Amino acid sequence: MQNNDKHCFIDITKAKEIIKSFPTPLHVYDADGIINNARKLNDAFAWNKGFKEYFAVKATPNPEIIKLLRSENCGLDCSSYTELSIADRLGFKGDSIMFSSNETAAREYVYARKLNAIINLDDITHIEFLKNNASIPEKICLRFNPGGEFGTDADIMGIPAEAKYGLTRSQMTEAVKQLASLGVKEFGMHAFLASNTIGDTYYPLLAKTMFSTVLELIKETGVRFSFVNLSGGIGIPYRPEQQKVDIYKVASQVKNEYDRIFVANGINDIKLFTELGRYMLAPFGGLLTTLIHFKHTYREYAGVDACAANLMRPAIYGAYHHITVLGKEKETKDHVYDVVGSLCENCDKFAVNRQLPKLNYGDILFIHDTGAHGHSMGYNYNGKLRSAEVLLYKDGSFKLIRRAETEADYFATLDIFDEFR
Ligand SMILES: *Cc1c(COP(=O)(O)O)cnc(C)c1O
Repeated sequence: MQNNDKHCFIDITKAKEIIKSFPTPLHVYDADGIINNARKLNDAFAWNKGFKEYFAVKATPNPEIIKLLRSENCGLDCSSYTELSIADRLGFKGDSIMFSSNETAAREYVYARKLNAIINLDDITHIEFLKNNASIPEKICLRFNPGGEFGTDADIMGIPAEAKYGLTRSQMTEAVKQLASLGVKEFGMHAFLASNTIGDTYYPLLAKTMFSTVLELIKETGVRFSFVNLSGGIGIPYRPEQQKVDIYKVASQVKNEYDRIFVANGINDIKLFTELGRYMLAPFGGLLTTLIHFKHTYREYAGVDACAANLMRPAIYGAYHHITVLGKEKETKDHVYDVVGSLCENCDKFAVNRQLPKLNYGDILFIHDTGAHGHSMGYNYNGKLRSAEVLLYKDGSFKLIRRAETEADYFATLDIFDEFR
């Protein structure tokens, strides 16, 4: 436990240099890490012709990061009007956009059709809704929910029966028939059955379920399936003792299922898609924050200048985020602190009873794995403003990729009042 630290992609010298231009709190991202990870994913699935990752925009909706991923052939997975607008503004069109929404508004379908995005229908009633409000495309995807429980061990347990998403097995058959009669020529299937899975078995198990269902649907209805979208859900090791997913092993086990279920039945042209968010970005972002207060009451509190408005996961899920005190990587962790932010909410704790080296005023803490569902989940409670985002390149140079919010941003929606104009 003592020296069981996680590697940081930034050291104290670089952190101080960046903070000189862009003060803490601040999200930093590792461009090289993002690119190499995306390359590995593509390489692992290279056996599948047409494999494509559609990055889940909601995880990290930053244009510069999206461009890095696009340079590695990634498309975008959007789920709202604004996310479609991000895709549109960055020049994504057609098959490079997956629209995986739920409880979709009419204007969102209209926009998705305008961009000719691949629409992933979350419910059978949306066939009629899409037809009435926009139009039925020639290619469409259906989100499947097999019900029951999914997984083999604690690492990948999801409970699809309690999830609001997707069509039941019998609705899948019915939906395919309806859509075929409305002119759909090409089908895809999507399913997202467990989140933040660790271990290497989630995708292979998911693939087995999805591939067999696709095969059944082809036999039942005679339609053409051109892709299977394995969606997101691959996790990352937030805790230092956890193992990173072996993406090559995952991809080769998915291939085994592909060969056994598709190829053995004469099908070898079904493309595989993924919609990973966390796996693509989480480890390649960190939240830099400065220690500004100590408080000795019933516990030892270390107060920092970031708060849950910058990173909500600990507050809302009790999620673990590892913390490294920059410059003290080698010191013994012989102190115990609650690392806390300034919200008037007791859940605003980045760490509870965490063993850390002795802290001092001005220490810079690196909160790990905030690259996905980090900045993007931020909010403005207590009038807190969201931080800037900075992208760090391999050669040590860095670039501001989102400025910090100002009071004017916070008051922008109050410009109906003279005092706030
Ligand atoms: C959130 C989401 C993803 C990405 O999930 P991760 O856990 O970040 O991999 C992919 N697809 C859909 C439809 C989602 O809602």
